[in-house]
Amino acid sequence: MSASKQILALNRFEGTDTSGFPPELAKRLAKRRATFGASSVLFYEQPIEMVRGEGVYLFDSNGNRYLDMYNNVPSVGHCHPHVASAIAAQVARLNINTRYLSRISESYAERLLSHVPAPLSNLVMTCTGSEANDLALRIASSVTGKHGFIVTRAAYHGNTEAVTAISPSSYKGAPHIPHVRLIPAPSAEGDVGGTFAANLATAIKELEATEYGFAAIIVDSIFSSDGIFADPPGFLQPALALTHQHGGLFIADEVQPGFGRTGGGLWGFGRHSLTPDIVTMGKPMGNGYPMGGVVVRPEHLTRFCETTGYFNTFGGSPVAAAAGNAVLDVIEDEELIANAATSGQVLKSGLEALKSRFPRIGGVRGAGLFIGLDFVTPDDNTQDQPFASHIINQLKTHHILIGAAGLYGHTLKIRPPLCFTTTHADQFLTTLEQILEQS
Ligand code: PMP
Repeated sequence: MSASKQILALNRFEGTDTSGFPPELAKRLAKRRATFGASSVLFYEQPIEMVRGEGVYLFDSNGNRYLDMYNNVPSVGHCHPHVASAIAAQVARLNINTRYLSRISESYAERLLSHVPAPLSNLVMTCTGSEANDLALRIASSVTGKHGFIVTRAAYHGNTEAVTAISPSSYKGAPHIPHVRLIPAPSAEGDVGGTFAANLATAIKELEATEYGFAAIIVDSIFSSDGIFADPPGFLQPALALTHQHGGLFIADEVQPGFGRTGGGLWGFGRHSLTPDIVTMGKPMGNGYPMGGVVVRPEHLTRFCETTGYFNTFGGSPVAAAAGNAVLDVIEDEELIANAATSGQVLKSGLEALKSRFPRIGGVRGAGLFIGLDFVTPDDNTQDQPFASHIINQLKTHHILIGAAGLYGHTLKIRPPLCFTTTHADQFLTTLEQILEQS
């Protein structure tokens, strides 16, 4: 069995060995390390300087164009003109906090809420997914009176102290956080829902035996950092039922699958035909403008606000609302959900065809434009993280940007902007095939 990997360590420039780099780049990296310090993370064995983005493409300082298969923040396309001009127009007109009435902020909230199941009729706007999850945990604790949380083994839910505690993929090694229990990622086959619920049952029992009790399970509903687990649709239903049986809340973290990525609707939880108790949102919400949100039942928010105030200076500002509105416009006008389904299917079928030819490919999973591709060793079929890194760096030399995921870092995380077409899928598949043939 391979060793588990810290998420930020995947596909990372380690920051010390610059031998063989152009002298200018080596100097630049040393300077960056001196100012950004130990938390500086750069992609790739040899980092790239980006200067421009457009649609599915990024352009570096040497004029090279890269196909971005990795970035779900500019979800409707890098620097989308409709989003960029909506932000620019609003920032030039008015940018204040939500303590004043503002038509654009209010209508954005109404518009977003019209796309979530009816009982979830309040929206609290934040600036990041981390803030949204932090607030969701606090709401769950005030509603249940409990403080124990359950997450998957390689989950990532953000960067505050509270959400780092529920982000085991941020730790080097398996963390031991007293109020958090880890359950394995969903299985790729067999009774996926039953096994997931059985593991959840064990964790709930453990938490109930502690002073913390069971407040909530929080899941990224496409399990992106765990390695992407989407099938069979509906497999989360037994977990939801069990959570409610034990008086806990079910929090769906839509930072990754939200806003159309899975090709079956706006939300990842929709694939499971369930209504979570709390939904958290982030990155694709503003296409690069910092936005996050918590969608919640009014009675739950009221309970939380009985004891605690919540105010977010920048969350839900008119500029944020302009960005959010423009993102929803583009998803609708360019039919990006249908595109995610169509292009995603072409991509997935192509990867399955490659899997039948290359034993190095151990699995293909996903929905819409979120696909995981596992690499394994040819002799004993175990997770092969070095081979995944090799593929990532080879793809870079062919000007395709991609990253890895999963507990062992052996899963290629395929997650391009939603304007990715079947032509881009063909380009990716042909290049990957070539690399596999030569590897
Ligand atoms: N939840 C999930 C599932 C995420 O992937 C991330 C960010 N990668 C977050 C929460 C945190 O979002 P942010 O970086 O905006 O704080």
